[in-house]
Amino acid sequence: MVTGRPAPGSRVARGWLGLPVQRWRQLTQAGFFLLFVFAPIFDIFRLDLNLKHFILFGFDWTLGLDEFLAGRASAAQASVNLVLRGFLPLVAVVGTLIYVSWKWGRLYCGWLCPHFSIVETINQTLRRAIGKQSLWDKKPLPARNPDGSETRHDALWWFAVIPLVIACAVLWAVVLLTYLLPPAEVYGNLWHASLTHNQAVFLSAASIAFFVEFMFARHLFCRYACAVGLFQSLAWMSNDKAMVVGFKRQRAKDCASCYSACDHVCPMRLNPRNVKRMMFACVQCGQCVDACDHTMESNPSGTLLNWVQDLRAESEAAFNVRAARTATVAHDAGAASLRDASPKTGK
Ligand code: SF4
Ligand code: SF4
Repeated sequence: MVTGRPAPGSRVARGWLGLPVQRWRQLTQAGFFLLFVFAPIFDIFRLDLNLKHFILFGFDWTLGLDEFLAGRASAAQASVNLVLRGFLPLVAVVGTLIYVSWKWGRLYCGWLCPHFSIVETINQTLRRAIGKQSLWDKKPLPARNPDGSETRHDALWWFAVIPLVIACAVLWAVVLLTYLLPPAEVYGNLWHASLTHNQAVFLSAASIAFFVEFMFARHLFCRYACAVGLFQSLAWMSNDKAMVVGFKRQRAKDCASCYSACDHVCPMRLNPRNVKRMMFACVQCGQCVDACDHTMESNPSGTLLNWVQDLRAESEAAFNVRAARTATVAHDAGAASLRDASPKTGK
């Protein structure tokens, strides 16, 4: 998927049409976030609990059972309706998602999901407040970034973190309600401060729940609680040839000149050099690959992390944790003995 591999030692960024990968990702995430917010408003997709059916692109999307219940359609027609209007669209959407993740991993999560956009935004703002992307990280990250710039933390940024998390929580609660009730009614009642009792209870409870989740458990949710993410991960793990971040273990000693940039940038708080089975929650964002491009740009042998597919992906998937560690230790030992055997230069 990700092309444009930079030549060893060059500063050519990966990407398409002159835009780096991470810029593309920001664009797809922003576009999908807008779609997420505006889809109910423009009747692109929503469930109307008043009407008791879905609205899709402005049309009522029913299973056609009302006709059957009213005696105006036969059982055969009702069955055909169920298959055409219910089963087939569901299979098409779920099948597409499963196929994409089986072949390329959790692309939906890393490139589109509105929840993950929030995760990354809060990660980066929190890093400015406490130097960590998550409250649960043990140690602060280094101030330096892979491109050489610096992000120093300052507790003053808490004045940005808390309002940001509150704003995201309230926005999500309101948008969620517009997927269930007519958006004009929800936004109209909010504007006139005339929410019904049930609407007020829903918005208060959902806002509190989202605040807690965004603040304390956003990575946990992506890893274990989100069904969409979980099924993508399962499909991805079932295909040994699927695209994966591959690590050139035979060159592991080159990491000695780096500050583990890939570990520090990962928004899912994974270790990108680990074996595939330990990367269950990888969202294919490519930030670790970009980080390695930057830190290894003056290494004539090139970068150590790269997207791999098919045969190389298969060998990556076949690696187990012990074998990966053994390879790294063996190369470190080899490098040490080479250093010992070489004439001392006094430098
Ligand atoms: S894989 Fe690349 S970015 Fe990660 S520690 Fe090694 S050199 Fe650094
Ligand atoms: S391991 Fe790399 S590609 Fe996967 S989530 Fe972390 S930074 Fe993104």
